[in-house]
Amino acid sequence: MEGSVQVLKFGGTSVGSGERIRRVASIIGYHVRDSAGMFPVVVVSAMSGVTDQLLRIARFACTGEHESCQQELDALKQKHLEAADKAVHKREGRQALQHDLQVAFTMLEQDISAVEAGRSTTTREPTGESHITAWALHAAPTIGAWGERFSVLLVAATARDVGVLAVPVREEVIITSDLQFDTLPAFGTVVGADHLPLETRVNVARLISPLIERGVVPVAPGFIGRTVRGFVTTLGRNGSDYSATVIGEALDCAEVTIYTDVDGVLSADPRVVANTRLLPRLTYAEAARLSWFGAKVLHPRTLIPVAHRNIPVRVRNTFRPHTRGTVVGPELATRSAAAAITVRRQLALITVENSDLFGAPENAGQVFELAARAGAAPVAICSSSGHHLAFVVEEQAVDPVVALLQHDMGSWRVSHRRGLAACACIGSGFTADPMSPARAITALARERIPVITQGASDTGIILIVEESDSERALRCLHRDLIAPVIPLVRHEVHDTHEKRREIRQG
Ligand code: ADP
Ligand code: ASP
Ligand code: MG
Repeated sequence: MEGSVQVLKFGGTSVGSGERIRRVASIIGYHVRDSAGMFPVVVVSAMSGVTDQLLRIARFACTGEHESCQQELDALKQKHLEAADKAVHKREGRQALQHDLQVAFTMLEQDISAVEAGRSTTTREPTGESHITAWALHAAPTIGAWGERFSVLLVAATARDVGVLAVPVREEVIITSDLQFDTLPAFGTVVGADHLPLETRVNVARLISPLIERGVVPVAPGFIGRTVRGFVTTLGRNGSDYSATVIGEALDCAEVTIYTDVDGVLSADPRVVANTRLLPRLTYAEAARLSWFGAKVLHPRTLIPVAHRNIPVRVRNTFRPHTRGTVVGPELATRSAAAAITVRRQLALITVENSDLFGAPENAGQVFELAARAGAAPVAICSSSGHHLAFVVEEQAVDPVVALLQHDMGSWRVSHRRGLAACACIGSGFTADPMSPARAITALARERIPVITQGASDTGIILIVEESDSERALRCLHRDLIAPVIPLVRHEVHDTHEKRREIRQG
């Protein structure tokens, strides 16, 4: 099968309405008919906004707010039935889809009732857990998983409606390890599991390969997985990109395409910066850093399963499928010359200092081990000297990290500062120019944006600023380092009238 399969992943906005799902179905049809092409395996997200709705339902189920839970559920049902109505034109197919959706909603209702009754949704036994434990272990994954399960029904039925042989994959394809919580995640947050490559490969061979062999397009759910013990898990928010590459690797696919709502990976978030540029090529390392530092277009783990196999990942626009998009692949002899700026928000800076003026390097291992034990990976390490170490973590993790450091590192002074953001200037387009860091700092200074601390590496520079300055920082860095905004020159109307009069009179 090697080299003959490609994975097409469609995100939440791409499947955000019945009309959009029809568009997705026609793209799948195009890939099936393209005789030179590779056979498509489809991975889909929940319709946009649906996972948020489901997680609200899960919260209401945990806290016993039954009425609010029911209202959200009704709205969710309405949304999917309306989408089914618009997406599938032939009556028979539409009725079958409506039936499948109703069955799925009944199963979701059973999961909600189990959480409301304080039971484990898997064992049906009373758990006697606090609502935070119930949330983390059962409610968030089991209820949150339903968005993708509804989507596979909608997309497969619509593909059939436009003449493509397609079926929904109703079981979780990806196998994960059990989630281990040293400390329970905050109520409302979703923690992503790690996939198990060998077990997933076995499952893919069972669930997906037989369909491909029969020429049937499998439509699989992104975001969700199942632990070896049979519990439903998720790969974390925005995790369907990661699902696509996990499934792609298990299939030994030739390529993965992430279809989304922008033309590809751009030089900055187009919602904040107006004149962004498309980056036609990125190396795996560049794309991984961009997503780590906040470019939402790819989930930060997306490239992990495919980079070591040199499987290319394309990012393309569902709404302009003729455009070439971005190709993410291995480093070539020629540099990508890509340059992009991203912002990662909700960070806190932790500084660990020793009045002895010695010791930081020896104790760095201990500091990061304690941070990891408190559930926080450093987002960036900013500075270190003989007696001091500064690094940023996600804001939500700062309290447990600081508490643990203060407890375990007796003579060290631990301080922290919240409300920060990291602006990352990334890509060989920057690093090739030794003056880039100076230009970045000058750009911020010109706008009077203080740089709280910074870090640099051979792949780019990180500037830590106040979160409230981060949008302005992104715009001015983009303007001064990537794409100058050339102001339109308008002549004052008044002057022109004056000039005409002068000419007439003179
Ligand atoms: P999907 O629903 O397809 O998964 P996402 O909303 O997760 O889509 O990701 C696409 C969004 O990522 C775009 O609409 C854009 O606003 C945002 N984004 C942020 N940074 C970038 C960037 N550098 N390039 C492209 N898109 C970006
Ligand atoms: N539906 C999930 C989320 O909203 C996963 C995804 O869309 O990638 O987080
Ligand atoms: Mg996404």
